[in-house]
Amino acid sequence: MRSKSANVRNANDNEACRKKGSESEKGVRIKQSTIHGTGLFSTKKYLPGECIIEYAGKVRRWSDCEDERTSYTCLMGIERNLVIDPRIQGNIARFINHCCSPNCEAVLDGKKVFIQAAKRIHKDDELTIDYSLIIPLSDQTLATHYKYTCRCGSPKCRSTMLQVKKKKPTSGCISKAQKARQK
Ligand SMILES: [Zn+2]
Repeated sequence: MRSKSANVRNANDNEACRKKGSESEKGVRIKQSTIHGTGLFSTKKYLPGECIIEYAGKVRRWSDCEDERTSYTCLMGIERNLVIDPRIQGNIARFINHCCSPNCEAVLDGKKVFIQAAKRIHKDDELTIDYSLIIPLSDQTLATHYKYTCRCGSPKCRSTMLQVKKKKPTSGCISKAQKARQK
């Protein structure tokens, strides 16, 4: 299971996004990605700032998900020790891939996260966010780094899905190390 922060930022009074995000699965579809596996694609145009879909899932404690790791599911960190788990009550937004030059961003609104256009998006574009994965220093082995190698193909690719700069803990995913420090 990857947990990701994806540059989640707070929405300011984003009621329209909140309403739209819950009913916008028709604005996206999934198909084979050139980046990785199955990806999320637009079925229409979006302007920068437009809400595309909610990153749906059950709000859970990170500590309750920790022992259920798989390679296919992304936990979205929303606040201290809370994540959105798209395996429960999730939608197709969970197929969104990472790119180092993403065309979308994850916007936090209370305990919900919405995928919002960060650039002008055309029909059939693959939608991407920057996962900015956080893993504890103790887990940062060569094997781990290889596992999170990025092959997004962007000219600005930093070659890793891991976060390269420090972020506030509340806006990032909650890693084992962070969790331990919070105890
Ligand atoms: Zn990349």
